[in-house]
Amino acid sequence: NNIVMLEDVWKIYKNGEHVIHSLANINYSVEEGSFSIIYGPSGSGKSTLIRVIGLLEKPTMGKVWIKGKNSGKLAQKKRNIVIRDEIGFLFQGSNLIPTLNALENITLPMLNSDKNLAKKLLEKVGFSDHKKLPKEMSIEEGRRVSLARAMVNNHSIILADEPTGDLHTADSEKFIKILQELNRTEDLTVVVTTNNRNISKLGGNLIEIADGTFVQ
Ligand code: ADP
Ligand code: ADP
Repeated sequence: NNIVMLEDVWKIYKNGEHVIHSLANINYSVEEGSFSIIYGPSGSGKSTLIRVIGLLEKPTMGKVWIKGKNSGKLAQKKRNIVIRDEIGFLFQGSNLIPTLNALENITLPMLNSDKNLAKKLLEKVGFSDHKKLPKEMSIEEGRRVSLARAMVNNHSIILADEPTGDLHTADSEKFIKILQELNRTEDLTVVVTTNNRNISKLGGNLIEIADGTFVQ
């Protein structure tokens, strides 16, 4: 069962005279319950790929299927609904609200401010200090809190763009292992991008990208 399927996807940017094939004829699928790593150097198209999968950008050509629904070219309103229901994002930088503590940052995106659910999610990412403010957290702790927040709406899939780009090696590995643990125990489907060879070797379905195409 594929949650995501990309069919002959191209993303082409034009900078004046300059044409950039950020994605060139990409075919890619993500199976439900899988853990996938997209590995490639800076500028290879990883962010573009994550943004196209997550419906934040429309492909120039090709199709993006989310749970069997042709979603790549949906109008903004309909796209937002698919995003809301199916997709959890984890961006580089934790983007926590600085004036809210860990628990409040998790309850914020909830409709019913369910503190018990928020506590459970923090427990799942191994974070117990509910009252800690973002400025009191290490980068790695902040990343785990933002992961808990990404899980609030029980999405089908978590998309994480370079979640370890600003972490030291040990923290990077720790964070990826937490994602893998949640993938196993919570049946969470995860797609992670990285430009770090060591991270790419930590396991899961690995795909390598360079200049907008997959390396065989
Ligand atoms: P990565 O995430 O691997 O660093 P990106 O997907 O960010 O790669 O970028 C891939 C290529 O597409 C780069 O050459 C980048 O400059 C270009 N690119 C990405 N986004 C845009 C944009 N909005 N406008 C123009 N070019 C872009
Ligand atoms: P990353 O390296 O994490 O992939 P980038 O620095 O490549 O991130 O991209 C950050 C933002 O800048 C993205 O929204 C992307 O669309 C935009 N961007 C990247 N390259 C270009 C470019 N050449 N021209 C315009 N916008 C760009």
